[in-house]
Amino acid sequence: MTQSNEAPEKVLATLNKDGSRNWLRPRLSVGFFHTWRRRFAWFLIFIFLLLPHIRIGGEALFLFDIPNRRFTLFGITFLPTDTLLLLFAALAFFLSVFLITAMLGRAWCGWACPQTVYMEFLFRPIERMFEGSSPSQQKRIQSQGLHWRSLAKYFTYIILAMVLAHTFLAYFVGTDALRQWMTQSPFKHPQPFFIMLLVTGAVFFDFAYFREQTCLVVCPYGRFQSVLLDRQSMIVGYDPNRGETRGKVSKRKKEKDVEFGDCIDCGACVTTCPTGIDIRDGLQMECINCTQCIDACDKIMTKLDKPTGLIRYTSQDELEGKKQKFLRPRVVLYPLLILLVITGFIITWNYRSGAKIQLVRQGKSPYRILAGGEVSNQVAVAISNLTKKSHKYKIELYKKDKGIKMIAPVKSITVGPSKIGTLTVFITTPAKLFEKKTPVVQFRVTDGAGLDARPEYKLIGPLPIAGN
Ligand code: SF4
Ligand code: SF4
Repeated sequence: MTQSNEAPEKVLATLNKDGSRNWLRPRLSVGFFHTWRRRFAWFLIFIFLLLPHIRIGGEALFLFDIPNRRFTLFGITFLPTDTLLLLFAALAFFLSVFLITAMLGRAWCGWACPQTVYMEFLFRPIERMFEGSSPSQQKRIQSQGLHWRSLAKYFTYIILAMVLAHTFLAYFVGTDALRQWMTQSPFKHPQPFFIMLLVTGAVFFDFAYFREQTCLVVCPYGRFQSVLLDRQSMIVGYDPNRGETRGKVSKRKKEKDVEFGDCIDCGACVTTCPTGIDIRDGLQMECINCTQCIDACDKIMTKLDKPTGLIRYTSQDELEGKKQKFLRPRVVLYPLLILLVITGFIITWNYRSGAKIQLVRQGKSPYRILAGGEVSNQVAVAISNLTKKSHKYKIELYKKDKGIKMIAPVKSITVGPSKIGTLTVFITTPAKLFEKKTPVVQFRVTDGAGLDARPEYKLIGPLPIAGN
């Protein structure tokens, strides 16, 4: 007896029974939602291309400078010392995502996620332009290997992937660096050139091959859906009370005694779905709420002269005939938490002075014994200039025990706006001062413009010998 390698039933919409990938070619369904999604998508694409070029007072509006750990959001630059502020901002962002999901379901996935926006309104239309809009026509051309239509499609994809990769990287390196890279030979900046190639390749791979797998396999958001949604959250849902018992027109003619619902089992909602699922099976993790099935079904219902909305924006409770409630515990709790986090951000922001000083121990060993017997501590004074102007910072030793000295090659440093400057100083201490206690010194950092910071620093030296 031969053993079949096929699964007993269909497990995933994108997987054939033999385990190979079921390549999806969703049929385009134009309707009310598609029209508005397309308009919104092009608005988002325009914003995405424009944002890295906008500057406020010479500063980029958005810049995520990862190597220097400087993040500019809405023209405000956060330095590594602004951990608390960034934490509050991240918390506010995630809580807002939770709130939006609790209320509007996966509206983000269907309307605003770059994966959906680019796939459905940029890459897919190009595919339809070159290979035809009918799935069977696309399949025929794609099965012919290197057909000129497929080659033209992939060539356009590469150009688009390059544009998207350059724009994406502009958010991380800024437009000035990007312009420089683009106008110079790649041999002058091999590393950035390699990164650009890598990102272009990743964008091409994603939209030419990986496609819906990004939503189904990679993106964690869909997986959190079950905990972020409640039964009152908005979903795209099929109304089984109205649609069932489903039956094709031919079946209806034959089985006159069956009371059929409005669903004529035409499959239009399935063939249009970019993740290949059947919405009539109920709420599924794969559904990205793209509304394609609403447009497809509405078209059928209009043709049949029946009311639209067999598939519609609804909630699980509404589909079960229960009352729609706007106020639910999580819809109240999330805004309260967001308010709390924003208050924390504002308070922290108000305490943010013109500069932040950090004293960091340096050197291979915690301290060194000098030839004269003194103990030397090497300290890095890191100054984060949180203002929009350059400042010259002067460093001195303000409070110290007798005999302690500060030796510094330079005692002042000029730090640009939203930059960090570091000065290295050496504190020498007579060894006898370590016999009874740990000496503490106080630095003084001034900028001549009102800053007068006095951070303390605990010195390290040999421990007193027991019994002495
Ligand atoms: S089921 Fe409908 S809303 Fe969900 S992904 Fe498929 S087409 Fe989009
Ligand atoms: S498009 Fe509407 S009528 Fe056709 S199968 Fe889907 S739910 Fe039924």
